[in-house]
Amino acid sequence: MITVESKLPTVGTTIFTVMSQLAHQHQAINLSQGFPNFDCADELKKLVHQAMLEGKNQYAPMTGVAKLRHALAQKANRLYGASLDPDQEITITAGATQALFTAISAFVRPGDEVILIEPAYDSYGPAVEVNGGVVVPYELQGPNYRVDWGKLEQLVSPKTRMLIINTPHNPTGQVFSDADFTALKSILAGTDIILLCDEVYEHLVYDGATHRSIVGDPELFARSIATYSFGKTFHNTGWKCGYAAGPAHLMAEFRKVHQFNVFSVNTPVQYALGEYLNDPQVYEYLGPFFQKKRDLFLQLIEGTGLRPIPCEGTYFQLVDYSAVSDLNEVDFARWLTTEIGVAAIPVSVFYTNQVENKVVRFCFAKTDDVLEAAGQRLRAL
Ligand code: PMP
Ligand code: GLN
Repeated sequence: MITVESKLPTVGTTIFTVMSQLAHQHQAINLSQGFPNFDCADELKKLVHQAMLEGKNQYAPMTGVAKLRHALAQKANRLYGASLDPDQEITITAGATQALFTAISAFVRPGDEVILIEPAYDSYGPAVEVNGGVVVPYELQGPNYRVDWGKLEQLVSPKTRMLIINTPHNPTGQVFSDADFTALKSILAGTDIILLCDEVYEHLVYDGATHRSIVGDPELFARSIATYSFGKTFHNTGWKCGYAAGPAHLMAEFRKVHQFNVFSVNTPVQYALGEYLNDPQVYEYLGPFFQKKRDLFLQLIEGTGLRPIPCEGTYFQLVDYSAVSDLNEVDFARWLTTEIGVAAIPVSVFYTNQVENKVVRFCFAKTDDVLEAAGQRLRAL
């Protein structure tokens, strides 16, 4: 056997795969990995089928199907007042994961520092490290998980190449405010730091909150790549389609990498989405739709000893379980799966330093019957 030195020696299998497998093995209700248990719209499936029957089955253009890029520019204008150039500033990707990996590969060189706001989605760190970058973690503190920008600024050094932000934030459910954007601008002004802004939950905001997109802020957009996921928006995480937006000079660099790590992505799905997006209702209903699910889940876990942490966006609910168990987060999530029959994600795994807050994450993108069944099991705690 040949000897290899792992490029990612500390990385194991992603927690989403681990917990979903454990849930399956123990027939637990799977509120761990973030995906809906309901299907995407029949209309969208029909549009994909139609595109296939029309022969849209060969390589799409490297940058993405024009119809879809134009529909996305229109959406960004309608929602955020952005004027994106669909030909130079938008690229269709194989989900947000590929967009994130490509953006990091395009800009991060060995030794460059990348600031992550933790708990951070688990693909960011390994993507930085495989490119030779160095993760500089900024740790959010419970229970409110707001960024203290003064403290974050202390992590900026001459080696900082990139700052990765995620709003609405997985797993905490926090949504950036105008004040957050103002602080960001003052920290980044005069630097060459690239802002990678993960907005996959852009439509999932609750209680009258609004999502502020980087594409709607000319000063920040000038140094940014934003990433999006159709899987999250249209309930088809298995289609692995998303996109990236950024100013032309950054997008040109992004595309240099994109063309060689995937070239182009699923053609019929792009034609279908380009058509489907013409009706704003297909995404406008999402906020109230998921807010109802969040509220149902909160009502169902009332009186369980699990203390919910306010969630303004995403389809995740954090709970503090310190009143019911002394176990650490990984052990508690395993115990909850195997003994109570409800799978959750330990938040500690989203921190480089495995910070323990006795908090786990539940995904409430589930049909009401599944949420009710989970609530019933959790009430046994
Ligand atoms: N970023 C965040 C914050 C996520 O939660 C996810 C999971 N969907 C992704 C990126 C990846 O998205 P995709 O499934 O489109 O690759
Ligand atoms: N984004 C999803 C989550 O946070 C899962 C994505 C994945 O399984 N890779 O649960």
